[in-house]
Amino acid sequence: MDSALKAAGRPVGDATLIAVSKTFGPEEIVPVIEAGQRVFGENRVQEAKAKYPSLRKRYPDLELHLIGPLQTNKVKEAVALFDAIHTVDRPKLAAELAKEMQKQNRHPRLFIQVNTGAEPQKAGVLPDEADAFIAQCREQFGLETAGLMCIPPVDEEPSLHFALLDKIAKRNGIKNLSMGMSGDFETAIAFGANYIRVGSAIFGARAYPATDHA
Ligand SMILES: *Cc1c(COP(=O)(O)O)cnc(C)c1O
Repeated sequence: MDSALKAAGRPVGDATLIAVSKTFGPEEIVPVIEAGQRVFGENRVQEAKAKYPSLRKRYPDLELHLIGPLQTNKVKEAVALFDAIHTVDRPKLAAELAKEMQKQNRHPRLFIQVNTGAEPQKAGVLPDEADAFIAQCREQFGLETAGLMCIPPVDEEPSLHFALLDKIAKRNGIKNLSMGMSGDFETAIAFGANYIRVGSAIFGARAYPATDHA
């Protein structure tokens, strides 16, 4: 990360590493915490709920990010557990988040997921609809967008998608970009990422595939 930041002419420390611990247990997560890592990402609410409350008792300064799709019936638990949610992508979800955040007086930072490749199977608002959705979040639901997030299609050059996300963020006055994974985080940093989501490069290959559902 440091050399990618330097190469991009950005200060070291300008990007935050989210260590993606999905499918891994405390025995694998604790050594990463002991090495100094504090920011972690999970893609399922139930899995995070099973693992992180006890880890947080031992390490109160952990920061937890939800990076997987969120169903409206899990919003209550997600607001209670996570410090950031990267996958806001539809009005019904935004409405539910606004309601729960007010009720719990907890305010996780919200990222809007953009489906930059317009892939039918993938979550996220379409690039053409992003500006309107960002405005709707602000005006209708009173939600500020902390950042934008994308997952480029596996078979395409990621830089085009990173550049598109950056462009949408800039024209909407949004500061943070959540983009880049184990295979492409250097490229993402070159394109302005300040939250990168890295799993296998830290924890090793996952023994079983994580599901795509929160
Ligand atoms: C699993 C996952 C990652 C991490 O992927 P790696 O290739 O293991 O680094 C990043 N972002 C999201 C949304 C994920 O689901």
